[in-house]
Amino acid sequence: MISFELPEKIQQTVTLMQTVAENMMRPVSRHFDEHEHEIPWDYITFMHEASRAMGGASSMVPNGGKKPEGPRLGYQRLAYMAEILSWGDAAMYLCTPGGMLGSAAVQATGTKDQKERFLKRFQGEKPAFDAMALTEPHAGSAMPAEVRTTAVRDGEQWVLNGEKIFVTSGHKALLDSDGFVVIWATIDPSAGRAGVRPFVVEAGTPGVKVTKLEHKMGIRVSDTASIVLQEARVPFDNILGSPEVEVKTTEGFKGAMVTFDASRPLVAASALGIARAALEGLKEFLQEQGITIRYGLPRSRMSDIEREVIDMEVMHRSAWLLTLKSCWMLDDRRANNLEASMSKIRAGDVVVKITQRVVELMGPLGISHERLFEKWFRDAKINDLYEGTGQINRLIVARRILGYTRRELD
Ligand SMILES: Cc1cc2nc3c(=O)[nH]c(=O)nc-3n(C[C@H](O)[C@H](O)[C@H](O)COP(=O)(O)OP(=O)(O)OC[C@H]3O[C@@H](n4cnc5c(N)ncnc54)[C@H](O)[C@@H]3O)c2cc1C
Repeated sequence: MISFELPEKIQQTVTLMQTVAENMMRPVSRHFDEHEHEIPWDYITFMHEASRAMGGASSMVPNGGKKPEGPRLGYQRLAYMAEILSWGDAAMYLCTPGGMLGSAAVQATGTKDQKERFLKRFQGEKPAFDAMALTEPHAGSAMPAEVRTTAVRDGEQWVLNGEKIFVTSGHKALLDSDGFVVIWATIDPSAGRAGVRPFVVEAGTPGVKVTKLEHKMGIRVSDTASIVLQEARVPFDNILGSPEVEVKTTEGFKGAMVTFDASRPLVAASALGIARAALEGLKEFLQEQGITIRYGLPRSRMSDIEREVIDMEVMHRSAWLLTLKSCWMLDDRRANNLEASMSKIRAGDVVVKITQRVVELMGPLGISHERLFEKWFRDAKINDLYEGTGQINRLIVARRILGYTRRELD
């Protein structure tokens, strides 16, 4: 039987995260928005200790990669976590230590030994960060065919050269902690997609430089770095997946897709946390003005604002249910490629529409720095851009539904 009750195991996480969001994020949200590259260490330290106390729970790797006792709820739990922390502050959520996209890639493509070797640092004394670098100046949506970063084998090492841009938490992973970045590079430029592989590049690797931090419209406390690799040497077994190039397959790059199938629903959840913050903020404001939403009333007898709020709540709720379904499929080990993209498209649209409309409805307070509405509006848009833009995810959905190949529909 389908149940929409919150499982008890998740309830504990929800309660803890709600306390963190209310007490450690909201009060400093404006400060960190105005101090773009300051690092929210209080939040980071607390989350690190909490993760250690919970046995290694991280932001994108359920149960710290360990087999859970009882039913698998890891991704559903992570979705609640992402939603609530993003209700607190979406940019600070992106600063959560201990396993974001880079770890998701290790989890999706690494061997047992690699998972142990690379992920155990997140349970150390100090917080550590990870990142995943696919995008290059000439390779965004057109990844991976356009990847120009190269990895050449030299004995028991790989030598990496190239440039990566827009790397979320690249600075924190390489310079502020003993973390790592998963760099996607080609081991055979003539093989196109089939030559692309992920490599773990650890903090302190000579030849790796963070050359720039982006100044952004939203999610400003999250660092977005450019990374240059010049003759950067990593051990041979830092390659995730096979070092062989099977020209007729794209097995190597499938790891990125598996990573996105796991991470896109979490981006959707994060987006919906921002949308909920805006909606709740609007309702509180309306309440202060003596306006309550009369849910039971026939639609024709409602005021315009009541109808609008309810319509936005419906959009929000349906996107959330789609996101949860996509996470449930992951927990149930079902292929969720279609649902992962659908949930991200839907949540990306919903968060932009809701935050924009709430800013409009709030009047001058919508754009004032007195409240956070204008910040949520700025934080919203990225959810429709990274980890596949809305257009690219629509292509994925169309290919899945219509049964087209990438070549037939691009
Ligand atoms: C804040 C931030 C954080 C990021 N973090 C990371 C990260 O951690 N790691 C990482 O690797 N990357 C990251 N990115 C990069 C992000 O994933 C890319 O920006 C995104 O994939 C789009 O690539 P692009 O910017 O090159 O745009 P382009 O690919 O040049 O696209 C430009 C526009 O054209 C559209 N378009 C492109 N191709 C098609 C098509 N075939 N059909 C229809 N429309 C199309 C796109 O949807 C978009 O609207 C981040 C970006 C930002 C802004």
